[in-house]
Amino acid sequence: EALGPTVTVGEILVEIMATTIGTGFLAAQPLLGPFPSGAPAIFIDQVARIGGAAGIVAAVGDDDFGTLNVERLRADGVDVSAIATIAGKPTGSAFVRYRNDGARDFVFNIAHSAAGETRMTAAAHKLIARAGHVHVMGSAFAIPGIAEILVEAVGSVKARGGSVSFDPNIRKELVQDGAGRRLIDDMLAVTDLLLPSGDELLVAAGLATEEAAVQHLLGLGIGEIVLKRGSDGSTHFSRAFGRVDCPAFTVDEIDPTGAGDCFGAAYLTSRRAGLPPARALLYANAAGARTVMKQGPMEGVSNKAALDDFIAAAGRELKA
Ligand code: ATP
Ligand code: MG
Repeated sequence: EALGPTVTVGEILVEIMATTIGTGFLAAQPLLGPFPSGAPAIFIDQVARIGGAAGIVAAVGDDDFGTLNVERLRADGVDVSAIATIAGKPTGSAFVRYRNDGARDFVFNIAHSAAGETRMTAAAHKLIARAGHVHVMGSAFAIPGIAEILVEAVGSVKARGGSVSFDPNIRKELVQDGAGRRLIDDMLAVTDLLLPSGDELLVAAGLATEEAAVQHLLGLGIGEIVLKRGSDGSTHFSRAFGRVDCPAFTVDEIDPTGAGDCFGAAYLTSRRAGLPPARALLYANAAGARTVMKQGPMEGVSNKAALDDFIAAAGRELKA
C-alpha cells in the first residue's frame, strides 16, 4: 500500500429492520436498529478491519444516526476526516423487511438525506490526493453529486498510477437508459478489479453468457473479475491467473445484507497486500460467510485473526 489508502465515496445510512418476516410496513410492528449501514460504509469498514489503510468521502446529519456511523468507522480504523456533517438534513436511513421468499421491502430516505449533500470539500480533496486506490460502488451513482466526485477521484488516483475497483450493483433500469449505460462504460474503461454478483456480470458486459461476458470485459483491459455467487461461492477470472474457483463456507444465513461488500473489501485488501488470487478469494469468502451469520449489515465485519481462525476451523487452509 505504498501508494496510499483505499478510498470510497458514497452513502452512509442507518438500517432499521423488521424482526418478523412479512410484507412491508403498512402496520405497526417490532423493529430492530439503528445499525450502521450503506454499501460504501460497510465496504470501507471491512477494508480497515482486515488491516488496510482506508478512508471515505461521505455526508451525515448532525444527529445520533450520523454519530453512530462515524464513531463505528473511526473505532474500526477508517479515516473519517472527509465525512461532512450537514446542518438541517437528517442522516440517511433504510427500513427493511424480508418477505417469505427472501425478497425485501424498503422505505428509503437517502437522496433527500445528508447523503444527497455529499460534495468535493477541502477535506475530501485532501483524502483523495493521498489515495492509492478508489473503490466505486455502483449504488452511489443513484445519489445526486456523488458520480462527479467518484469520476474526479478515479482520475486523480489513476494519474498517480493507482488502481480502481468497481462493484456494479446498479439497478437494471439505470443501465438501460443511455446516460446510465455511458456511465458504466466509462467506469469499465478504467476498472482494474470488477466485483459483480449474479447477472450484474452479464448486465455490465451487455452479453448473454458468462464466458462471453468475461472475455469481453478482460478484453477491455480489466485486470481481474471476481464473480460473487452467494452460497454457491465465487470465481476469479484474469489473463494472468486464468480461472480460480472458491466454494462458499457452509454457514447458517441470518442476514445476507453486506456480504458482497465485505467479500469485495477482503479480496481487494488481500490483493493490495500482495496475496495471490486463490488466497485473497479464501479470505473474501470467509468474510462474506461471517457477515451473513450476524444480524445487521456491518455487524459481521471481521479482522484478519478472526478470518484465519474461521478458515482453520473449516479445514480450508491453503498450502504455501
Ligand atoms: P449484497 O449485495 O447482498 O451485499 P452480493 O449479491 O454482492 O451481496 P453475494 O454473492 O450474495 O454478494 O455474497 C458475497 C459472498 O459472500 C459470496 O460469494 C460468498 O462467498 C459469501 N456468502 C454470501 N451468502 C452466503 C451464504 N449463505 N453462505 C456462505 N457464504 C455466503
Ligand atoms: Mg452486491
